Amino acid sequence: MPTDHSASRPTESASAETASGDTESDDHAPLLDVTDLRTHIHTDRGTVRAVDGVRFAVDRGEAVCLVGESGSGKSVTCESLTGIVPSPPAEMIGGSVSFDGTSLHDRETDLRAFRGDRIGHVFQNPQHALDPVYTVGAQLVEAVEIHREVSDEAARDRAVELLGRVGIPNPVERVEDYPHEFSGGMRQRVALAVALAADPDLLVADEPTTAVDATVQARLLALLRELLDDGMGLLLVTHDLRVVAETADRVLVMFGGTIVERGPVEAVFERPAHPYTQALFDSYDGFARRSDRPARDDVPEDGCRFRAECPHAIEACSGPDQPPEYAVAGDEYHTASCVYYAEDRRADDLLADARAAGPTGIEEDDD
Ligand code: SF4
Repeated sequence: MPTDHSASRPTESASAETASGDTESDDHAPLLDVTDLRTHIHTDRGTVRAVDGVRFAVDRGEAVCLVGESGSGKSVTCESLTGIVPSPPAEMIGGSVSFDGTSLHDRETDLRAFRGDRIGHVFQNPQHALDPVYTVGAQLVEAVEIHREVSDEAARDRAVELLGRVGIPNPVERVEDYPHEFSGGMRQRVALAVALAADPDLLVADEPTTAVDATVQARLLALLRELLDDGMGLLLVTHDLRVVAETADRVLVMFGGTIVERGPVEAVFERPAHPYTQALFDSYDGFARRSDRPARDDVPEDGCRFRAECPHAIEACSGPDQPPEYAVAGDEYHTASCVYYAEDRRADDLLADARAAGPTGIEEDDD
């Protein structure tokens, strides 16, 4: 079973959209609050609704994991938060993103004051973060000095400290090396160090532990837990269900640009309720530690996005909209966007499948 990091209950509990679509009032503002986010990508073959009405929140000290197959919209969601999604071909067409009370998508908001400072990003491809013509030390020093008024010496000390914290051996020497002198996994860790240079309040990390071995992964997860304990919020994209189990307070499952299931990690792992979550967990490869499925390009544009391949599809799944999020087994914190949960009686069969589909065995596969 997942490690329990959920002493406090989910941020979204009070602001959760009810099955009727209403939003309940909340006197506690989360660190990050995303509402109805929509980003489309224009291609030669038409427009892809990469992010299609996504809402979620992340609080201080909370880890929220985004899971879903490649192409489900996870990375575009992350890049849309601070407007770094490449445009064109992407176009952010709607929604709001509030960070610590500031609306990030307002014209007046200077996003540069947030990117890399209060919000750190780790990209799936570390090449995005590292310049090949400068040493990693120079890039870390620059990242520190842009956001903090410190001496050159203090910035260099901080660069060495950051490299050590992300598990780069001999950081005093390696700080003088260029990115090409590091392996892919090390570059990924250097990118994490750059993202942490300014002590961000929120870290948005896209597969930060993919190319590292088990020992380094354990070290990075320990570092993330340390930062969470210090109050940093974490939005983590990963295919590795073991990382989700060890890190997440809450899980968001994405398919076709929408969130189809959400809930505390224990609830989603014990009772994966949405047929897509069940299929995703069924694809979990304990050896490769990944849960993924090939992306499909025939996701319906109306009704339930999963209905083309859902074994439980019925007429009610055909639209016009993605089904509302219904409570699963009476748990208001655990919801599934599936018509079966509109009535508890109908959900019984799916919940029977849920018990079979839970990603059991991830504890047994010790290194
Ligand atoms: S709404 Fe219908 S098609 Fe969608 S997951 Fe539920 S049963 Fe399957």
